[in-house]
Amino acid sequence: MAKYIFVTGGVTSSLGKGIIAASLAKLLQARGFKVTIQKFDPYINVDPGTLNPYEHGECYVTEDGAETDLDLGHYERFLNIYTSQANNVTTGRIYQTVINKERAGDFLGKTVQVVPHITDEIKRRMMLLGNDGNYDIVITEIGGTVGDIESLPFIEAVRQIQWELPGGDVCVIHLTLIPYLKAAKELKTKPTQHSVKMLSETGVHPDIIVCRTEEPLNNDIKRKIALFCNVKPEAVIEAMDASTIYEVPLTMLHEKLDIICLRKLNTTLVPEADLRNWKSFLEKLKYPKSKVSIGLIGKYMELQDAYKSILESFIHAGAMNEVKVQVIDVHSEDLNKHTVKEKLEQLDGLLVAPGFGKRGIEGKIIAVQYARENNLPFFGICLGMQMAVIEFARNILGIEKAHSTEMDAQTCNPVIDMMQEQKKIKQMGGTMRLGAYTCEIKKGTLAYDIYDKTIISERHRHRFEFNNDYLEQFEANGMIASGINPDNNLVEIIEAKDHPFFIGVQYHPELKSTVESPAPLFVHFIAAAKNYNEQRSSGKVTALQTEMQSA
Ligand code: GLN
Repeated sequence: MAKYIFVTGGVTSSLGKGIIAASLAKLLQARGFKVTIQKFDPYINVDPGTLNPYEHGECYVTEDGAETDLDLGHYERFLNIYTSQANNVTTGRIYQTVINKERAGDFLGKTVQVVPHITDEIKRRMMLLGNDGNYDIVITEIGGTVGDIESLPFIEAVRQIQWELPGGDVCVIHLTLIPYLKAAKELKTKPTQHSVKMLSETGVHPDIIVCRTEEPLNNDIKRKIALFCNVKPEAVIEAMDASTIYEVPLTMLHEKLDIICLRKLNTTLVPEADLRNWKSFLEKLKYPKSKVSIGLIGKYMELQDAYKSILESFIHAGAMNEVKVQVIDVHSEDLNKHTVKEKLEQLDGLLVAPGFGKRGIEGKIIAVQYARENNLPFFGICLGMQMAVIEFARNILGIEKAHSTEMDAQTCNPVIDMMQEQKKIKQMGGTMRLGAYTCEIKKGTLAYDIYDKTIISERHRHRFEFNNDYLEQFEANGMIASGINPDNNLVEIIEAKDHPFFIGVQYHPELKSTVESPAPLFVHFIAAAKNYNEQRSSGKVTALQTEMQSA
């Protein structure tokens, strides 16, 4: 039987429940426990797949093709495990299941209600991963903030589980904010007291309170929080702002969050967490030997979370190369013939981001052209790869009107076109080509150098693809398909032959990059950028550019 840890949040959103949950999971995993984390989101969308990135940040995709909350990305990056459809549940999905059952007549004439039917379904899903014997501990993060109307059924489900299971099988952690009032030079505990009170009113009593704070909590403050929130003083955990999220497992280790949790779960203390690999990663991250500047060309630049997995992959790849990756946000709408040089000339590499729709794509195409013509390391992901294909068709193959049917449905040169099986689909949610697919890599290519094997599997999220009618023409002119899906012949990787590093992938390698296993494409891209930077400092790149321009 698995044990269950629930993480709720109070006072405000954005306190980092996902990071605290992932850090705790990391500590427990490093002690030898089999741990997984799941996220329960109170909104009504069935999954975040239909949400605009401005609403909810990046949509993270799992191996089994679930479109999920970006916190699942943190779970995978910290734990180096795969999550699945079962690890992210929303109110929408709960209701969909219950309503489908009602339509099938499964409730035998009963009135279907929030309690018990919705809460029973929430409980069933909360316990699901713990039932099959694969995990010792299941951590469940409840999205939103305690007191939200929509999170009430989830909190009620936690209350019932706390009541049904033996005391030693459940631990509830409440994450709150202790604000520091500059004028009074004081940390304030009242919002936390109110938040715990509100949680207690719903019948759930937290065992541990994790306090986000900008200033250290002294013993008096800890005692005060403990006394008024009815927990032991050692169960008040200080979570100071950290310079990187990857430091949080170590701060939580220092605060003994894992030990306090395991004690509550009546678990005999197993050996101290072995975090040697984690610490060596952190060392490299904190003390880089040099720096590279990478341009991230996208259209959701106002929101950090929109490209979360890409940014984290840069961190993993930077540490691996012992360089600091400075990501320069470049809004694709700001790029045109006149601005491109000024905006991109200081960069050591260019990543053209995934995306949907027409806005900003001409800027992306101009960026690709700049990288190709200036031997600047280029890495295109999904839409970024498609833009590289269009650029090559227009500027090298001379197909002036080359386009994607996503942006121009009537184009007479659809070098990127909708996949055959997508054409009949009308429903939006969960219908893209999603999840892990196999790709076969050709030997003697950059892709092969990078992966060092011929069969790989990567995750996808798209509807459009490279149009194979043009493949011969591309390959005859120096743009090759170095990775192909062996089952349906879709082009998954393209690369330009006469360029030091020019690669585009139809899949999302950023979704599989973890601290312990950084994505090879990112690692090699950063290495290429490092190389470019060194060449530039020694004057070699300028010579190359001048050479190209005079040719
Ligand atoms: N909009 C493109 C497609 O659907 C690319 C999607 C993406 O970048 N994830 O094919």
